[in-house]
Amino acid sequence: MVRESIVQPEPQDEPEQEVVLRPKRIAEMVGQREVVEVLHIAIDAARKRGDPLGHILFDGPPGLGKTTFATCIPREMGVSVQMASGPGLKAPKDIVPYLTNLENGSVLFIDEIHRMPKAVEEYLYTAMEDFRIDIVLGEGVNARTLNLQLRPFTLIGATTRAGMLSGPLRDRFQIREHLGFYSVAELTEILNRNANKLNVQLDANAALEISKRSRGTPRVANNRLLWVRDYALSKSDGQVTLETAQAALKMTGIDVLGLDRQDRRYIETLIRVFSGGPAGIEAIAHTMNVSSDTLVDEVEPYLLRSELIIRTSRGRCATPKGFEHVNLKPPKDRGQDIPLFPTE
Ligand code: ADP
Repeated sequence: MVRESIVQPEPQDEPEQEVVLRPKRIAEMVGQREVVEVLHIAIDAARKRGDPLGHILFDGPPGLGKTTFATCIPREMGVSVQMASGPGLKAPKDIVPYLTNLENGSVLFIDEIHRMPKAVEEYLYTAMEDFRIDIVLGEGVNARTLNLQLRPFTLIGATTRAGMLSGPLRDRFQIREHLGFYSVAELTEILNRNANKLNVQLDANAALEISKRSRGTPRVANNRLLWVRDYALSKSDGQVTLETAQAALKMTGIDVLGLDRQDRRYIETLIRVFSGGPAGIEAIAHTMNVSSDTLVDEVEPYLLRSELIIRTSRGRCATPKGFEHVNLKPPKDRGQDIPLFPTE
């Protein structure tokens, strides 16, 4: 197992703040206890066996810690890591350099793995299963295939859409973990730790308020903290009090549930244009002039979790709580159409 040559496992082009705030070790990560426990056991066993860790797939909405886990794991194992991204791997030849550069036991991280073309996905099958790939040398009649043995490695995949991965690829991951939203208490802890790292004086009430308005997502909490810090510095002495936090968040359109303008526009479009639904995601996306992927990956998960909308076989519907949140009333004849309403 390689323990010396640790490639700096930070995603490239990451803003400096993100690098400072991202936990370096699993022990520094807050929440996701079940995932952490599984990883501890797997890492411990792999170390004792002297084998690479089994392939791992993380799924869940953006900003919940998939990349953070993927950068902490190689540190725990004392191995190097290479970072790739699904959309950047357009053909099998694009992934070959990553695979041939792997060291014994090292990690290949592929973000947005569901966005790899099928041909690349299929090319990975033998690499994952037998640590072997075929490389075609030359062209036309002179072409010949070389079967190349790879060094044993661990593939870590991250996806916001586990459902879009083909069964054969999904089955080749020994560990599959779903990352869920964080509780207010967990986000408060993350904010307090990060306020320390950034040397920001953050009142307990302000930390709680920012957590409640962070959509259960550490990345959102960090961004809100950075904005509130700047606001406090510019408007007062830099100390973040409850009042400063509230004023700063209000200024950028973050409401009491933590929804931003785009989230509210989604609910308002669903209600105003589609009478509260059912409406198809493509129709909503066209009306809002936003890609349906953005809505499905970034907007809907938290609206669903907050019971502001529901997904039915016939489309998206606003719930009574959704109507109430944007101060709109459900039409009188509404009801028969909607198969189910969550009770509050
Ligand atoms: P994803 O890859 O799922 O989109 P990231 O791993 O990039 O999300 O997380 C975004 C940011 O949120 C990280 O830079 C880190 O600062 C913070 N973060 C994520 N998960 C945790 C956690 N469990 N504990 C503390 N901070 C976290």
